Amino acid sequence: MQMSTSLRKKRAAEAAKAAGVDALLVTHLPDVRYLSGFTGSSAALILTNGAPRRAVLFTDGRYTAQARAEAAGTRVVIAPKPLQAACEWIVKHRVKRCGFEAAQTTVASLSAMRKAVAGASKPKSSKPKFVAVKPLVARLREIKDAEEIQRMRAAAAMGCMLFDRMLDLLQPGMTEMTVAAELEFAARRAGAEGMSFQTIVASGIRSSMPHGHASSAKLPHRGFVTLDFGVVLEGYCSDMTRTVHLGLATAPERQAYDAVLEAQEAGVAAVRAGVSAGDVDEAARSVLRRARLDKWFTHSTGHGVGLEIHEAPRLAAKATQLLEAGMVVTIEPGIYMPGKFGLRIEDTLVVTRTGCEILTPSTKAWIEL
Ligand code: ZN
Ligand code: ZN
Repeated sequence: MQMSTSLRKKRAAEAAKAAGVDALLVTHLPDVRYLSGFTGSSAALILTNGAPRRAVLFTDGRYTAQARAEAAGTRVVIAPKPLQAACEWIVKHRVKRCGFEAAQTTVASLSAMRKAVAGASKPKSSKPKFVAVKPLVARLREIKDAEEIQRMRAAAAMGCMLFDRMLDLLQPGMTEMTVAAELEFAARRAGAEGMSFQTIVASGIRSSMPHGHASSAKLPHRGFVTLDFGVVLEGYCSDMTRTVHLGLATAPERQAYDAVLEAQEAGVAAVRAGVSAGDVDEAARSVLRRARLDKWFTHSTGHGVGLEIHEAPRLAAKATQLLEAGMVVTIEPGIYMPGKFGLRIEDTLVVTRTGCEILTPSTKAWIEL
């Protein structure tokens, strides 16, 4: 971890310099983890870009041993109020312009930061100025290094294994919550640190809710069951969706499935470094438009995944950002007809120079149980 974090810290410091600030105050915990390796729940990280370049992690006494072990290679300061201590540090080290990511900083935190520097500054000396910067660390995190891709491969493989196991288990009459419980129990037994997000099990009419969390509803004798779930392994999230059908399907259900599958495969086929996120969205969406189902496709085609389940980039209609090799993104079109049924199919993949590597190769063929 130490080698990769030192490169990441260097890149973040360079990005801060390019943004015109002398230091960057990082408080978003996944960003702190990405840059230092520290996984605790209370932290502030300062990166300076002067010479010498410095990185200092502030956390509280509960994490003394953990911070020193996980953030080897980063100086650790233990203080009862880490954010305040970080602000006092920038005053002491005469940082003039300290960047912070507006998207990751609450109004309350900014006010505490300003109060802390005012309290620590001597009357005549100049106070450091806090400068809002673009999401610099989120941008670095978009492109995964080999170690991250390896972890994401392992997490995704576990997801595929769990899906196979669920196929043996799904039966009419069992509640959605039981399905989620079985899946999550199997995940923890297989070594998952947790789930990437609250498991979605949406069956029958409930399949028309894109984010139908597992409820006490019973799986129907005839109807779709959508499973959207992910595990966390070594900090990294997996994300996949498969939809299966219990009992005999109606013609409209079968047509809808074929259209979503075709859209999903068109989205996957469009992925390549240099293609815009909007073009990938359009590749999937246009298939559903031709099938006159696009008005039921009410969300974007995909999103980045990594230390967090939803990260940059967004694969949305008209998004202009270009995909780059090493990005890990999902392709997940779906359609949702209120009061009737819905379905979604989702893969996670790594963008490559010539296309992509699918991390979730579980079958997408029609499954009737
Ligand atoms: Zn998902
Ligand atoms: Zn997703």
